[in-house]
Amino acid sequence: MATIELGRYELEDLPPVCVQCGAAATEVKVERFTWTPQWAQFTVFLGLLPWFIFVALTQQKATVHLPMCDEHFRRRPLIGQLVWVGVAIGAALIGVGLCIDENLNLPSSMYLSMAGFATLVVTLLVVLFGSDGSVRATHITRSTITLDRVSEEFVDAVQHGFEPSEVAQELADTPPNGMELQTAKYLRRR
Ligand SMILES: [Zn+2]
Repeated sequence: MATIELGRYELEDLPPVCVQCGAAATEVKVERFTWTPQWAQFTVFLGLLPWFIFVALTQQKATVHLPMCDEHFRRRPLIGQLVWVGVAIGAALIGVGLCIDENLNLPSSMYLSMAGFATLVVTLLVVLFGSDGSVRATHITRSTITLDRVSEEFVDAVQHGFEPSEVAQELADTPPNGMELQTAKYLRRR
């Protein structure tokens, strides 16, 4: 895996090489990246309001048209699913805790609500600091975006130019099913 700095002018016209595995890209995933300086993220420990203000003031955004192979285009980021699970469990615990408190007036219901709140906080931290190996932005400025965990092949294609003739040649060398070639290429790279 590699890192690359892209100018904003090139974000919508990247070479057709999968950003994750380097295979020939067949799809384009439009992804909106946001980046906030780490010090601004850590203000979450001062409270939600300062965190919100600092993040709003310092956050940078960039939309990138990421070229991807079929497989990576379809794969959903694991962290996105985990976050929803975390939010659901946290909200359910708080809800149940509050219900028991209302109806039965048990002091122990407070612990349920506290556990729910803790789950939400952990989920928030995972969103802020966690990562699942997919492409992420490590720095965004007004003119550039730095992407981490991209494939070496993608970096190479961006920096040295992508030559469609190479792919055309490979396709010409392989009879008669193009899909088989792509799969074989993908398996070789693993
Ligand atoms: Zn791929």
